[in-house]
Amino acid sequence: SVRAGIVVTGTEVLTGRVADANGPWLAGRLGDAGIELAHITVCGDRPADMEAQLRFLADDGVDLILTSGGLGPTADDLTVEIVARFTGRELVLDTALEETISAIVNRWMAARGDTTGLDSVAAATRKQAMIPAGAQWVTPTGTAPGVVVSGTDTLPTVVVLPGPPPELQAMWPAVVEVPAVAAILASAPQQRQETVRMIGVPESELAVTLRTAESTISGFDRLEITTCLRRAELEIVTRIDTGADDAYAALLDLLRAEHGRAIFSVDGSTVDDQVAGLLSGRLIATAESCTAGLVAGRLTDRAGSSAYVVGGAVAYSNEIKTDVLGVDADLIAAHGAVSEQVAAAMATGALRRFGADTAISTTGIAGPGGGTPEKPVGTVCFGIALGDGTVVTRTLVLPGSRADVRDRSTSVALHLLRQ
Ligand code: ATP
Ligand code: MG
Repeated sequence: SVRAGIVVTGTEVLTGRVADANGPWLAGRLGDAGIELAHITVCGDRPADMEAQLRFLADDGVDLILTSGGLGPTADDLTVEIVARFTGRELVLDTALEETISAIVNRWMAARGDTTGLDSVAAATRKQAMIPAGAQWVTPTGTAPGVVVSGTDTLPTVVVLPGPPPELQAMWPAVVEVPAVAAILASAPQQRQETVRMIGVPESELAVTLRTAESTISGFDRLEITTCLRRAELEIVTRIDTGADDAYAALLDLLRAEHGRAIFSVDGSTVDDQVAGLLSGRLIATAESCTAGLVAGRLTDRAGSSAYVVGGAVAYSNEIKTDVLGVDADLIAAHGAVSEQVAAAMATGALRRFGADTAISTTGIAGPGGGTPEKPVGTVCFGIALGDGTVVTRTLVLPGSRADVRDRSTSVALHLLRQ
């Protein structure tokens, strides 16, 4: 297999002020290309630490190293220098690159009405045009170029990329065209990837099924399976070697036999995709208490949702439940705000109020306080009202922190809409 490592640089990332977006994004691209990602390391803007990580990856035998960050014009941007030293090459001025960067900076300054010329920034431009001898550069999408240093018998190919995620992502199509990178990608084994998603199955139950699969399916060792529990959904991603299609078909049969009712997707679609499909041509409204807009947010995450999302109410207090949604105050008094009766009334109220033909409601106890023996923290009631008068309700007790309960409630709401 072809293996890679990623070095994410930046003290802001190391210290947690900025969440790393480049490691996961690049991991996705490498995965698509059939390359096995062995490590993602993170270091601050300290040369010795970055060198140590490059050394570690090279010693581990990876074929490709990608770095992100530290390409700016300022003195603390040192990645190219460190990579030059690591690969035993001198830094040399690339005049064509210098002209390219100058032209970009020139355009920017002209656009800002700054006509003082390039003198003040010439030094910075020159720094960014210094690359390891023999390296290839990739046209900047900001001002910083990408740099590719081809590997040797003892060193992996190193690709240096800018830190800002939009710049890095915009550069990627050109990076994969650089011959040294293209050759590595072409040598990766071609694997197909399939995803199965299920809801409400504990990981331990799936583990039993996978053990059965291991002992009964021939060619099981040619499937690379990773499972991930997220928002109460269990995601099973399988990378399938060329020629191992029968093994995957057998695995899918077994999963269907053991967990058929829980499986909601075998084609990679998410619950969000499926709900969007179902809602096309319809109009949905939300009435949210404990999720306070998270369901509406999730429904409108996707472009084009204005075709079916009409609106919703964050009905956190009892007064808003009665005054905005028309929930009967006596109903709340009799059953409590967290009850299927109130969830049903919220949904029918939203249906009327917003002129929708589908409405979803949530009312629950997200915690950490507010639980009672009858209604512990995590109790959430859901209601769905449809234009034909159908009302469906459901109560679940969801585990986890306040954030978990709210997040899972949002997911459950989407799953109820899917059904
Ligand atoms: P610049 O010319 O902007 O300095 P650079 O290549 O030197 O480019 P950095 O200085 O490392 O990039 O990062 C610039 C900004 O980009 C950071 O302050 C941060 O906001 C964002 N950024 C950098 N790396 C990451 C990352 N791994 N994940 C998310 N954001 C990042
Ligand atoms: Mg910088």
